[in-house]
Amino acid sequence: MKPNIAHSISLFERAKQSIPGGVNSPVRAFKSVGGTPVFIKSAKGAYLFDEDGNKYIDYINSWGPMILGHGYEPVVKAIQEKATASTSFGAPTLLEIEMAELIKSMVKNVDLIRMVSSGTEACMSAVRLARGYTGKNKIIKFEGCYHGHADCFLVKAGSGMATLNIQTVPGVTAGVSLDTLTAPYNDPEAVKKLVEENKNEIAAIIIEPVVGNMGCILPEKNYLEGIRKICDEENIVFIFDEVMTGFRLAPGGAQEKLNIDADLVTYGKVIGGGLPVGAFGGKKKIMEHIAPLGNVYQAGTLSGNPIAMIAGYTMLKELKDHPETYKELDEKCGYLEKNLHEIFDRKNIKHRINRMGSMISLHFCDHDVIDFESASKADIPLFNKFFHHMLESGIYLPPSAYESWFLSNALTYEDLDETIKVADSFSEQ
Ligand SMILES: *Cc1c(COP(=O)(O)O)cnc(C)c1O
Repeated sequence: MKPNIAHSISLFERAKQSIPGGVNSPVRAFKSVGGTPVFIKSAKGAYLFDEDGNKYIDYINSWGPMILGHGYEPVVKAIQEKATASTSFGAPTLLEIEMAELIKSMVKNVDLIRMVSSGTEACMSAVRLARGYTGKNKIIKFEGCYHGHADCFLVKAGSGMATLNIQTVPGVTAGVSLDTLTAPYNDPEAVKKLVEENKNEIAAIIIEPVVGNMGCILPEKNYLEGIRKICDEENIVFIFDEVMTGFRLAPGGAQEKLNIDADLVTYGKVIGGGLPVGAFGGKKKIMEHIAPLGNVYQAGTLSGNPIAMIAGYTMLKELKDHPETYKELDEKCGYLEKNLHEIFDRKNIKHRINRMGSMISLHFCDHDVIDFESASKADIPLFNKFFHHMLESGIYLPPSAYESWFLSNALTYEDLDETIKVADSFSEQ
């Protein structure tokens, strides 16, 4: 039986009167899957509760940050306590040092780190820094990878734009777009070719080391190593966008999980424990070009905000002190993967499941999903049908075939079994 979402329906109508499309970020609008987005009132652990009182098992977790589940008590308590000492100063604080030191203790190749307020800001600033450091202008990004909504990234930019079928973005000048070169993911020859054709012009190669913005896509063997080598030979800054993978795949993110080194790394999502936080960091010789040490300008009134910092610090500390979290998440996600395979094999529904750790995506197709092209050739209408089937039975998946699902460790095996049971009642017809 379909749940009653009358309140969500009327709230969505009301929202559209004063917020563009009724939402403050496009994928929330359910435009590609159709239907009305549910308005969330509260959440606890693995569960979301909407304005009509329906309960959902959450597989988005705020697009990643809530890796330990919603309303995680140590984080909530820390925020409450900190707030009584005022919420912003615009002056340095001890907590910012502790946050930077904690990150450095978890992640390699970060000598210096600057806090910002979103993943977009982190990636945008990292690219500016790479340009300032190398004195070169062009960057290479990969088709289907998302690095936030700064102008230079809005070229073949993955999930949100793919979901809404936006090809080129009005408002981004041709000049800016021309400095962004793109290559298909998992195609080392394409990178080599671009670098050769633009000799001494490329400042940075920015990549999602494990992609989460065209579904979950894993780098093929030696792919990242090959790009690493090119960057070393050509004086190109290799930027790992770990906004999704940072503190999610391992305490040290994809760098640790895949055992590969970046020159600059960007963070977001988990790093803020559910508050608006981003960061970019890297080797000293590059980072020291940032103002006030150097002359690459970057700033933020609310950067390092104490409430945001205490939320992030508390979350990262929990993850550092409980590395078994990652093993548990991997086992839970593996259990889900295995059972979904079993269900779709039995139903004879062609599918692929990509997974690393607690990032997983399901694609209805009969070919491997290794890049944007193969992801977009999957049966998107069938995914949308599956999405609604799950939602109506209380399972909250990302509302797009181009998004990875993110598990939280608050999920129990009972929750996973419930999810599997609901998936098992899906039929293609
Ligand atoms: C979410 C995301 C961003 C943008 O972060 P915001 O905080 O939404 O600005 C950048 N890169 C990747 C890989 C992301 O997943």
